[in-house]
Order: sequence, then C-alpha cells, then structure tokens
Amino acid sequence: MQNYLSFLLMVLSVTSWAQNTPRESLDPKVTEVWDLKPKKITPAIKLGDAPSDAIILFDGKDLSKWTDNAGGEPKWEVKDGAITVTKGGGDLKTKQTFSDMQLHIEWRTPAEVVGDGQGRGNSGIFLQDRYELQVLDSYESPTYSNGQAGSIYKQSIPLVNACLKPGEWQAYDIVYNAPHFSENGRVLVPAFVTVIHNGVLVQNHTQIYGPTEYKGLPVYQPHSKASLRLQNHGNPVSYRNIWVREL
Ligand code: MG
Repeated sequence: MQNYLSFLLMVLSVTSWAQNTPRESLDPKVTEVWDLKPKKITPAIKLGDAPSDAIILFDGKDLSKWTDNAGGEPKWEVKDGAITVTKGGGDLKTKQTFSDMQLHIEWRTPAEVVGDGQGRGNSGIFLQDRYELQVLDSYESPTYSNGQAGSIYKQSIPLVNACLKPGEWQAYDIVYNAPHFSENGRVLVPAFVTVIHNGVLVQNHTQIYGPTEYKGLPVYQPHSKASLRLQNHGNPVSYRNIWVREL
C-alpha cells in the first residue's frame, strides 16, 4: 500500500505541472518521496533472533499464544526451547488471527527415521487455518512432488528440494498475501505465497487455488482473518522460533 501511495503521489506531482515541460527542465525533487517513511526497526542479527516489530508466537518457553483445535489448552510438549507434536494432542492454533503476513518458523523432523513418504515427519503450516505449506522429511524420502516439504500441499511443487537431514533444524521464511472476496463471496484476488526454505526460494509468489484438500480439487470459501495452524499428523515434528510481522 505504501509503495502504491508513494507512486501515486509522485505521478500526481509530476503530471500536475509537467505534462508539456521538456524532461531536461523538470525538477528531480518532484519524484523524490519524503513524506512517507518506512518505519525504522531493528532487524534480526543472527539466526534465532526476531526483528523488533515481530509478534513472537513461540519464544521457546510456553504456549500462551496458542490453543488446541477446539480453543482449549494446547497439548503439545514444550521442551528444550521447542514444541513437539504430541500423540492425540490435535493441531495447534494461534489465539491471534492474521491476514497478510511475513512468517518465520523453524521446524525439525525426528532424527530417528520412522515410516516413509507422507508418514515420515509429516506436519504442516496452515496459513489462515486452511492453506497448507507442507512440512515433511523429504531429504531422501520419495513421495508425490506436490506433497513434499516446501509444497503448497496438492497444489504447487517447490522449485527445488532444499531439505536438510532429519533431526536438523530447518527454516521457512514466508510472505503470504491473503485472498480477497466480494460481498457475495466471489474471489476478487486469490491468495499468494512466497516461501524461502533454508535460504532458498522454493515458492515464488505462488498462487493458492483454495483450501488444502486431501481429495479432490480446492474450492475457495470466503473468510476473514484466521489463525495460523500447525498440523498434528501423528509424527513428533518440532517447531521453534516462530514469529510474524503483519503486512
Ligand atoms: Mg502435512
């Protein structure tokens, strides 16, 4: 929005007096934007830090920002600065709801390899409670490409496989733009997502076609702000250092 505003300001300034003026005579100051300033923040200096304006969703200590699926007490294990999927513990949902966001999240599939394909280190990050960025042990574990780590599940294959070995911490940095709907529920703008996996671009402004479906094709249903949800797929996947910047 700020980019759009600054561009609009610039265009208005220039066109108001310069339509018939030769470019050489134009004042370069007219295309300088001074009155809209990016907010100054302190960036994260090292891995594990969060920038100063981030909403910290998990700081290694407790699950106070989360509930279980039904809005009750979350049941995942908190240990050694990480949270881990617990059998029978359901999914985790943030109490806060979100729309457009930058999300940083670190995850680890179990060092002890159990199962294969979709049964090995499966979890997932559901943006707005419905669009899954897959978490899976895809280091050397074949599965369908649009279901491997870094995929938008059953929709979009990652550009590369940037997975580390099971048992190692990995990072997703995500830029998510929520869909927009008309008053009668029509999709005006679909959702888009960009994902950097361990520093490598794996989804580049990828269109999301609707809520994640295991069977059949996705169909958008209108919605407003919604929780971030972490999937319990029965495998003891861990997460840490989770923060969001609302956009
Ligand atoms: Mg999953």
